[in-house]
Amino acid sequence: MSRQNLLPRTAPFGDGERASLDAVLGSATPVQRAWLAGFLAGLDAAGGQPAAAPSAPPKAAEPLTILYASESGNSEALAGNVAKLARKQGFKPKVVDFSDLDVATLPKAGKLVAIAATWGEGEPPARAVRAYGELMGEGAPRIDGVDFAVLALGDTSYVEFCAIGKALDARLEALGGKRAAARADLDLDFEKPAADWIKNTLKALAPAEAPDNVVAVDFARAAPGEDDEAELSREPVVVEVVEHVNLNSSRSDKETIHLALAFEDGAPAYEPGDSLEIFPENDPQLVDEILSAAGLSGDEALRKALLAERDITTLSAATIERFVKATGHADAQKLIESGEARAWIEGRHLIDLLATFPAPLTAEHLNTITRPLPPRAYSIASSRKEVGDEVHLAIVAVRYETHGRARSGVASVHVADRIRDGAKLRVRVKPNRHFRLPQDPATDIIMVGPGTGVAPFRAFVQERRAIEAPGRSWLFFGDRHFLHDFLYQLEWQEALEDGSLTKIDVAFSRDQPEKIYVQNRITHNAQELVSWLEGGAHFYVCGDAKNMAKDVRAAVVRAYEIAKSLSPADAEAQVAALERSHRYQQDVY
Ligand code: NAP
Repeated sequence: MSRQNLLPRTAPFGDGERASLDAVLGSATPVQRAWLAGFLAGLDAAGGQPAAAPSAPPKAAEPLTILYASESGNSEALAGNVAKLARKQGFKPKVVDFSDLDVATLPKAGKLVAIAATWGEGEPPARAVRAYGELMGEGAPRIDGVDFAVLALGDTSYVEFCAIGKALDARLEALGGKRAAARADLDLDFEKPAADWIKNTLKALAPAEAPDNVVAVDFARAAPGEDDEAELSREPVVVEVVEHVNLNSSRSDKETIHLALAFEDGAPAYEPGDSLEIFPENDPQLVDEILSAAGLSGDEALRKALLAERDITTLSAATIERFVKATGHADAQKLIESGEARAWIEGRHLIDLLATFPAPLTAEHLNTITRPLPPRAYSIASSRKEVGDEVHLAIVAVRYETHGRARSGVASVHVADRIRDGAKLRVRVKPNRHFRLPQDPATDIIMVGPGTGVAPFRAFVQERRAIEAPGRSWLFFGDRHFLHDFLYQLEWQEALEDGSLTKIDVAFSRDQPEKIYVQNRITHNAQELVSWLEGGAHFYVCGDAKNMAKDVRAAVVRAYEIAKSLSPADAEAQVAALERSHRYQQDVY
């Protein structure tokens, strides 16, 4: 290579030094440059001491497979963290989404870190279902010789806490793998314990011999997922509420708040498909009830902490155990010993525990009994290309009654009842690279979003309008009543008129004696839907995970049976192929 000015004038060197470095680097071969980069990285790792044998070739990096099963993105972000740290420690990490896993390759993994979220009532994340089933099934290969470690993520408010991580850990051992580090089962406040677990696990997985000072640097590009952690760990920012409108009519039995939030210093670079986390505040009335039940009314510092920092609703078996440890309450202890605690928790919250088993508590007790108040994520309903420095959300107020007490969703009712124009909220963008518009704007899209599930599709349509995407767009929307619950009705009509929406099919479930759901509309349109999919359309589902998303998937399988006269197994294979090629994407909750 001829001599040239490689270093910019802004490089932190004097003119003479820059000229010398240019002279060396300008004529260096790629191998020499790579060696130099590895040497300098090794020098840093060794605290600035010259490497013991700088002329020796770098050690080959130890391959490490990092497998993740993620629904909301947390496991994926942690997999990225593992990869980053592993790379620094001389591993050659490979991050693999469960949805892309070929189970037959596992015996060759050598070293394996698996991070698995548990979803709903003890289920694997939707994208992980296929490979998880294969791994648990009889056809799974032996993995003798593989060193593994499992990190389980979950939510203690669900009875089957971390069930998937636990099952995976046991399965990898049963298949012949060697557990290199104990599994950790982490709750929603996982960031700190996860960081500790990652550090210790990589130490346990490292080769026995001490690495040379010269570490091999893997020049491959960072794996997908490695970059997301930066977003996740970012500090929340304060935004101002500039619009707060109930999208349902005053005669509806639902209340869905359209919220427009303005960023003072410019909106962060969110994409259609991303979510926004809201850091909510608890209901002040519930805080006062808890303080009174604990005999702590009047403690203003504690009141402030309970309002904004502690989860004062969730009740889990672990909460009761911590309560018994703090108070020694005999009746609460009996509840655990009799094995009835799990059933008793159903539909109850912390206040029920404190009211049923009265005991004086200290502020410290309340702190240990509760967990930190987690943020709530909502699918973003806007495109920056249309709303500039704002972000829009659609949030349904969750209100219900159990065991004779009125209950309310922490964040949704905070937004519905205690937030108005001009109020401030703390928020943070949560990226979701598994729910993305097709790269080619000419590709058709089919969107299924009943209720608040329609939110990200407002962002999709805004985005495609702004970029004048030539691809067609088809929306399936459903809610209770046409007159009262047709969220963003006027906007969809405008979109149909300007062409950013090609087609809309609606299902209002309670306007007639029998229920009509979006999946009925899918089946009714089977021929046309399959012809869009065969033409390359991407298919998106957002909303309820428990029933709707499964029913919609079954309806798409059925559509293939009808349109192509396929057997149920062949139709299922068509949908599985769509999923594998990432043309069937879900954002469900
Ligand atoms: P929703 O009221 O639960 O449902 C919307 C429509 O879907 C209704 O017409 C409903 O019919 C119908 N539906 C019920 N079961 C179905 C099924 N198996 N398949 C297809 N459609 C079905 O919707 P939502 O307003 O979006 O509320 C959903 C829940 O999401 C809330 O309870 C909330 O806790 C949670 N959530 C909301 C947000 C948010 O607000 N952004 C975020 C996270 C979680 P019927 O009711 O008549 O049966």
